[in-house]
Amino acid sequence: MDYQALADQIKHWAKELGFDKVGICDIDLSEHEPALQRWLDAGYHGEMDWMARHGMLRARPAELLPGTLRVISARINYLPPQAQFAANLSEPSQAYISRYALGRDYHKLVRNKLKKLAEKIEHEVGQLGYRPFVDSAPLLERPLAQKAGLGWAGKHSLILDQDAGSWFFLGELLVDIPLPIDSPSENQCGTCRACITSCPTGAIVEEGVVDARRCISYLTIEYPGIIPEEFRHAMGNRIYGCDDCQLVCPWNRFSDLTQEPDFHRRDKLNNADLIHLFAWDEQTFLRYMEGSPIRRIGHQQWQRNIIIAMGNAPYSQQIIDTLEKKHGESQLLDIHIDWALKQQRQQITYITNKHQRLIRIVQKGLPRDA
Ligand code: SF4
Repeated sequence: MDYQALADQIKHWAKELGFDKVGICDIDLSEHEPALQRWLDAGYHGEMDWMARHGMLRARPAELLPGTLRVISARINYLPPQAQFAANLSEPSQAYISRYALGRDYHKLVRNKLKKLAEKIEHEVGQLGYRPFVDSAPLLERPLAQKAGLGWAGKHSLILDQDAGSWFFLGELLVDIPLPIDSPSENQCGTCRACITSCPTGAIVEEGVVDARRCISYLTIEYPGIIPEEFRHAMGNRIYGCDDCQLVCPWNRFSDLTQEPDFHRRDKLNNADLIHLFAWDEQTFLRYMEGSPIRRIGHQQWQRNIIIAMGNAPYSQQIIDTLEKKHGESQLLDIHIDWALKQQRQQITYITNKHQRLIRIVQKGLPRDA
């Protein structure tokens, strides 16, 4: 078997299937085990207990599929055209949703493409042991992607590449054939620290290390409980995920828009007004979010996140009325509603005080800067 020719053919097939780039690497991730252990020991995985449970399995692909010799790492761009500039991040009465979640859930779509790629390889080699993964198993996908030449792990811990930025999904195909491997990517962050300094909650605790417990993506998506007060203001209008570390990354000037129509923003998220989204009852939420990654957080968590954004929104009597009406339905929501109402009412007090001061100035004929 001419494995070099096969590797070239695999990259060609992958492009035909819609992947933007693929690379091949061996399965030795032993150099990443100490850092993984330190991250777990520090508790940075928060309540994602499965991460601690899996331990070093994540760095040992052959334990997922005995006989694995290579990992074919693949990436596919997801940046939807309508969402390129993240304009509603600066519109506090609208909701900001992470760019990756505006369209269809990527897991099944990417996994199906990987499976088709495996079937093409199998047809060529006769017999193939393989397993496709898209976040579906404990696997250190980012170090694998870097080894396979798909990009380097930035200081925000995501993979980014000089010709693609970081707006892409990763998937892996484990195979048991000795394909030639690609050269790993070199880190090109240089002295830049934009993602570290711009993180709203200071979640990047050192270069390449994210404390998930402080990360808005974790808090809004993975964490089902009471969001600690210290992070609520910083969440702003981010109701599902956060892209700040990617939005500021200079390499994302070079990112391409997705070619995959399934990742385009779905119509129901066009009107991102907070009050409008909060009005969806559970049935509406489930219906509108069918096939979306957002659906998996459930209606209550969705509403919890919107309540915090409402607390951070400019004063609005409509928001106050909406929140008061909702009070009493759920203990979890009530805790966040109480906080949000307090933020809204503080704004009334502030506006009223300012108004009264202006009246006094006018009545006394005092100079405006008195
Ligand atoms: S923002 Fe700067 S430091 Fe962060 S990943 Fe991008 S280049 Fe690297």
